[in-house]
Amino acid sequence: VRRRWRPSGALRIFTGSESASRRRLFFALWPAAEVAAPLHAAPVAAHPGSGGRVMRRDSLHLTLAFLGDVMAARVADAEAAAAKVTASAFTFDLDRLGYWKHNRIVWAGCAAVPPALTALAASLAQALRAAGFQLEDRAFAAHVTLLRNAVCPPAASALAESIRWPVMDFALVESHAGAGGSRYAVRRRWPLRGPRG
Ligand code: ATP
Ligand code: MG
Repeated sequence: VRRRWRPSGALRIFTGSESASRRRLFFALWPAAEVAAPLHAAPVAAHPGSGGRVMRRDSLHLTLAFLGDVMAARVADAEAAAAKVTASAFTFDLDRLGYWKHNRIVWAGCAAVPPALTALAASLAQALRAAGFQLEDRAFAAHVTLLRNAVCPPAASALAESIRWPVMDFALVESHAGAGGSRYAVRRRWPLRGPRG
């Protein structure tokens, strides 16, 4: 049994065949090991007294668009929308450490979000909306969740060392609810346009 809050606020309980016909999906930047390793180490160094749960290294990601529970028959439409995205590859630096009180998350982000990242998220959102997917209206907040259930904000608001992230593609990811937190599986990737065309 899997409970999920729907936007309407009504509690739905998915069981049996109904849950089998739905996938919990989101689009994300999925870091290579060279990026994930320092990201994973950052909160341990920066926030030893957080009391929080460190995200698994192979779970770290930056969400571009959250679809939520999608009918299996609609997955191909989401993939077709992703294929329409026109955005260029880019490199950016994660240099900021932040904390959201409402969900007690410690995250890594950028002091200045690169326009190429904003453009990628916007292009994807536009393609998904055109395909009939309802996305949240709230503004894109580029972040990588590092710690959950942190009891207090980190002492520093900058990463000790910024982390360079070359972005060559984006991914469609499936989220599986589990006892120790959600598990993610990259289903498919789409390359971004290279600098040389
Ligand atoms: P859990 O919900 O089990 O605590 P989670 O939030 O990481 O774990 P999901 O809820 O499946 O797992 O979310 C997958 C990704 O999408 C996460 O990066 C999450 O922050 C993001 N996300 C979830 N809900 C939304 C939303 N309504 N709007 C934007 N991003 C979302
Ligand atoms: Mg969630």
